[in-house]
Amino acid sequence: MRLSRYFLPVLKETPSEAQIVSHRLMLRAGMIKQSSAGIYSWLPLGYKVLKNIETIVHEEQIRAGHIPMLMPTLQPADLWRESGRYDDYGEEMLRITDRHKRDMLYGPTNEEMITDIFRAHVGSYKDLPLTLYHIQWKFRDEIRPRFGVMRGREFLMKDGYNFDIDKDAALHAYNRHLVSYLRTYERMGLQAIPMRADSGPIGGDDTHEFLVLADTGESEVFYDSEITDLKFGDRAIDYDSVEECRAVLDEFTSRYARTDETHDEAEFAKVPEARRRTARGIEVGQIFYFGTKYSEAMGAVVDNGKGGKVPVHMGSHGIGVSRLLGAIIEASHDDKGIIWPEGVTPFHCGIVNLRQGDTATDAACAALYARITELGLEPLYDDREERAGGKFATMDLIGLPWRITVGPRGLANGLVELTSRRTGDSEEMTPEAAVSRIAEIYGKL
Ligand code: ATP
Ligand code: MG
Repeated sequence: MRLSRYFLPVLKETPSEAQIVSHRLMLRAGMIKQSSAGIYSWLPLGYKVLKNIETIVHEEQIRAGHIPMLMPTLQPADLWRESGRYDDYGEEMLRITDRHKRDMLYGPTNEEMITDIFRAHVGSYKDLPLTLYHIQWKFRDEIRPRFGVMRGREFLMKDGYNFDIDKDAALHAYNRHLVSYLRTYERMGLQAIPMRADSGPIGGDDTHEFLVLADTGESEVFYDSEITDLKFGDRAIDYDSVEECRAVLDEFTSRYARTDETHDEAEFAKVPEARRRTARGIEVGQIFYFGTKYSEAMGAVVDNGKGGKVPVHMGSHGIGVSRLLGAIIEASHDDKGIIWPEGVTPFHCGIVNLRQGDTATDAACAALYARITELGLEPLYDDREERAGGKFATMDLIGLPWRITVGPRGLANGLVELTSRRTGDSEEMTPEAAVSRIAEIYGKL
């Protein structure tokens, strides 16, 4: 993309309404525009990152054997009356009446709807196990929408639902989700720690929240510092193997790590004092096992092969897709702007032309642009008539991890400069070498 043709409405001023750095930077970098409280338009740059996050979530869910689908945002109230949650949910639920005076709602989550789909089409244990998921907009009329996309009213969530014959099988689905989430967050350059949590209105016993440590997080968390040394990395895992999934779970959940809702001082005291940490965290996901709560209420039963009918065991598993943009920025920025991890960056690198209109410089930039595009990568070429300082400031603000700077002085010696946004380190090299390095970084060699 050539910046002169793009739509990147960066702000010079720091918006006064934004209290935390991720919200400020998303507004300044022209990623979002508020439309009403807690509801945002996703401008092109923000939309690109949102899509990249979605893609990673899809890839990791499909890798784990979970099946993508799409359910609507608007739901009939009657389904929620069956589960008893229509009245329980309270004012967070946006209730709508259609022209025929039917009660509808903008879905805050989809347990009822997926259970309805299941009971309409599945009747045998032979069709299990089954995990369906979608990535869809949700609405919760939060009392205090704030911090930009972190606590919106309309927000994008991946929510997945497992259906299993018994508790053991459902716990395997739970473990599979835990493993897939570890991979998902790491690919986004995030460390999200699974912590024992409270199940809230979804109901159920087993639940973990995934928290990204950040001073601006809304949750207070307590953990054993050893947990921050754990990395999932690129280990191969067989998602069908009960033992392999459980072993990862044990590794990542055996140390003390809890939110304030489940925190227990006596248990915490057993962690050696030097390793006890209290911090703040951003909840970027949650997994639940809730047994037969919905299947019993809504009649989602299967024949068990022994002549009987049994309600299926279920769980639900959410990832805060739009909240993740805020969480990633909270975890990765400096005083100049955002620093995108390579896994989610909106453009793979920037190309800065220091003398727009100079024949040799323009030609060198165009050649770099073509070569990088041929690799299947997307560069953002700043081809505006603007001074170098302004171009650098924009690149730093929008946070592309790599920048290639092209100027007449370097080109006289056949050289361009490659700069890392994260370290600030620059290196002079030939344009060919710069292309190779970018290819290597993104695994395109
Ligand atoms: P919270 O405790 O932050 O209100 P929750 O526990 O009610 O969240 P879940 O039902 O677990 O949320 O939803 C799954 C994920 O969706 C959460 O882990 C979070 O990342 C995201 N999420 C929930 N509410 C919002 C919101 N208002 N804005 C953006 N993302 C949200
Ligand atoms: Mg939650």
